[in-house]
Amino acid sequence: MTLIYVALGANLEQPVQQLNQAVAALEKMADFGELTVSSFYSSTPMGDISQPDYINAVARFQTQLAPIALLDALQNIEQQQGRIRKAHWGPRTLDLDLLLYGQQVIDQPRLQVPHYGMKQRNFVLVPLAEIARDLILPCGQALTSLVTTEMHQSLHKLSSKELILPL
Ligand code: ATP
Ligand code: CA
Ligand code: CA
Repeated sequence: MTLIYVALGANLEQPVQQLNQAVAALEKMADFGELTVSSFYSSTPMGDISQPDYINAVARFQTQLAPIALLDALQNIEQQQGRIRKAHWGPRTLDLDLLLYGQQVIDQPRLQVPHYGMKQRNFVLVPLAEIARDLILPCGQALTSLVTTEMHQSLHKLSSKELILPL
């Protein structure tokens, strides 16, 4: 059994509902149906494409799936929630990125773990630190050393009101 972390992101078709639906799907996959999920955050999109803000979160659970089988399962959930692959970093109903697979380093054509962007992205590091404050990355770096005050300031944590009302 391996402890894994997944980043969730959505910016189309009621993103909060998309994330809730994805959390329910991940819960079904998780060993013992046990999953820990961070708060939901809104973030401004990366890149030059004009698109709505994203809703992001990070989830953690145990799995017996091998890394590629896990990636397949994550991509199935993206497909079930209507993801259409168009422009890189373009708008999407759901993006599920595998951040960490235990302490393994994986470098395969379809899968690189730790996820290459995680050390720079506020919308990954802040929710990750919320659920795994003492995490040490496979490279030996402490998560806390990567999270800056600016990262917190540039993200908006959704209030309970915003979770109920559609954004
Ligand atoms: P980014 O990877 O910069 O966050 P993105 O999430 O928009 O961009 P996608 O189009 O969702 O990129 O994914 C492109 C490919 O990345 C996938 O088909 C998958 O094979 C590959 N990939 C490599 N490593 C990972 C990983 N750790 N998690 C998810 N996909 C990965
Ligand atoms: Ca991504
Ligand atoms: Ca992705």
